[in-house]
Amino acid sequence: MKIQTTCPFCGCGCGMLLEVENGQVLSASPQRSHPVSRGTLCVKGWNGHQIIHHSSRLKKPLIKENGSFKAVSWERAISFAKSRLESIKKTHGAEAIGVVGSLKCTNEDNYLLAKFARAVIGTPHVDSALRYFQAPTMLAMQKHLGYAVASCTIGDIESADTILIIGADVKAQTARVGSLVLGAAKGGKRCILIDPHEQELSRFLTLQLRPRPETDLALLNCMMHVIIERDLYDPEIKGVARLRSDGLERFTPAYGESVTGVAADDIIRAAELFATAGKGIILYGTGLTQQNNATANVEAVWNLALLTGNIGREGAGILPLLYTCNMQGVVDMGLMTEFLPGHRPVDDVPTRRQLEKAWQFNLPTSMGLTLQQMINEAGKKIKAMYIVGENLAWSAPDCTTAAAALDKLDFLVVQDLFLTETAQKADVVLPACSFAEKEGTFTSMERRVQLVHRAIPPIGDSKPDYEIFTDLANAMGAKWPTAKPQAIFQEIASLLPCYSGLDYKKLSVPGGVIWPCHEASEECSVFKKILAERHGSFADVTIGRPFVEEPDEEYPFIMITGRPAFHRMTGTMISRSFTLDKEDMVATVEINTDDAKALKLRSGWTVLVKTRRGQVKRTVVVTRAVPPKVIFVPIHHKDGHTQSLVNAAIEPESGIPQMKMCAAKLEMM
Ligand code: SF4
Repeated sequence: MKIQTTCPFCGCGCGMLLEVENGQVLSASPQRSHPVSRGTLCVKGWNGHQIIHHSSRLKKPLIKENGSFKAVSWERAISFAKSRLESIKKTHGAEAIGVVGSLKCTNEDNYLLAKFARAVIGTPHVDSALRYFQAPTMLAMQKHLGYAVASCTIGDIESADTILIIGADVKAQTARVGSLVLGAAKGGKRCILIDPHEQELSRFLTLQLRPRPETDLALLNCMMHVIIERDLYDPEIKGVARLRSDGLERFTPAYGESVTGVAADDIIRAAELFATAGKGIILYGTGLTQQNNATANVEAVWNLALLTGNIGREGAGILPLLYTCNMQGVVDMGLMTEFLPGHRPVDDVPTRRQLEKAWQFNLPTSMGLTLQQMINEAGKKIKAMYIVGENLAWSAPDCTTAAAALDKLDFLVVQDLFLTETAQKADVVLPACSFAEKEGTFTSMERRVQLVHRAIPPIGDSKPDYEIFTDLANAMGAKWPTAKPQAIFQEIASLLPCYSGLDYKKLSVPGGVIWPCHEASEECSVFKKILAERHGSFADVTIGRPFVEEPDEEYPFIMITGRPAFHRMTGTMISRSFTLDKEDMVATVEINTDDAKALKLRSGWTVLVKTRRGQVKRTVVVTRAVPPKVIFVPIHHKDGHTQSLVNAAIEPESGIPQMKMCAAKLEMM
């Protein structure tokens, strides 16, 4: 029997079929009629299902007693979690409890978790690992667009005339988007990449600019300077004079060359290519956002798109690359401390009143701590955490320090599929179901809401996340009905304007529906109206802050990180797929040929990569894919723990840690 569902890995939202026999998922295959994947899956989509029946799946709730886990009944686990959370709330207040949602859970799960945290516990400290990837995007887009979302869809890549990619390896991280870009590049469309690291796509590009790490803001401002000076901007756009006088004047190509290391002529060429080819689309990843100037970078992207007339028309826009299946849904459902469900600010009184009436609880009136702030405050302001489906002891920046911080909590609840490094620190572990064992919806990077169908019963005594939240909420005094995803979705659609008009029947077609869509025939037209109404609001031009960790004598390299094609996030899921795991066993560090010569290093040798926070063992790859004085370290879950090296310093505007780059050195072993 084949069960139609949605891929649970990256944010492209491909449609997949699970082949099921006798309660076992045997294989995954593509859906031919799916509008995004159109009969294709990437290597993760084909093989990732191997995690479902993995022998290390948690099958029973666990409680830690005298340092060891003991399997207990659900009644005991829920009662224990309830009494400890209530006791901490009574002693220290609700604000002593932090809640972290999962980018892999369904919308129904995440909506109930946001409701549980804000209404039942009453804490404002509600966040998710989205903070580590795209928080600046969500805040900037909400400010300029009114919604924390992309301004266009994946389909727009095909109708665009020019594609500009910044700080992302689209093929490795979001394979379906990557294959569309590769097809466009091979077909002769203008494709420009801004990234210091060369990648598979590089040889098909019209142009690649390789700026010094952390100088994207200057580069984007210089491109806009050229576009304005040469009258290449959209004549319909208002506010260009202000943009010019607001600080863009100093961003000449010569200045850009001195800051970024990119030749002035290449900056001019990139600006002309992007501004003169009709419709332009901008894709970007964490190379742009995990920086000290993250929010200013995203706002510069907004300005560039607006200046060139690329907001609010087909084949044009801004598409931030979301690396996880429900990263968009996490924001939609209110698991970002700044926003209530539906991207509405926490201090929006009418929304708060509406939710208080529907939920029958008073809600916190201001935003709480972000994820990284919660970790930093563990054992201080934060006494307890409830972490769902995230392995923060492994994935947080400077994770050795983050793991030690979790040890300082009075109480930790972890809900997950596996006994991760984070779960091992918990006082109680609640076993959750995988995507194949529950119903619900995911929302992809292009706002596409799609059904996830249950293919098999829960493994062992694991439960769907929405059921666990309901049980715990009711134990703590809520009177929620027995959770059914369809009914939860109806509640979501009744309270969130962006989901208004959606229901499971409308979503049952391959590819679901892109929100907002009050009527099936209106797909996206409502959004275009929103875009049209907001035309012309340029963000302020800023110079940006300096790089936080300039290389010095002791740490002479800039280390940048990235994700290889066969890996994902912390490896909690993908490393349990034997097919994917065996494809990429060696954890490497890439070093430029000139630097390797100076250090007398050869490919295949083992070195220690050291930063101010830690060290990992890596195998050297000598290459011209990285510029001189830069090393590239793939985030690899085995044989080297990249996240222990990276910087946890927070960008003040968005709370994103500056994880993408830091100073480093190499030592022979
Ligand atoms: S591109 Fe993303 S959504 Fe599509 S199959 Fe691969 S991992 Fe799944």
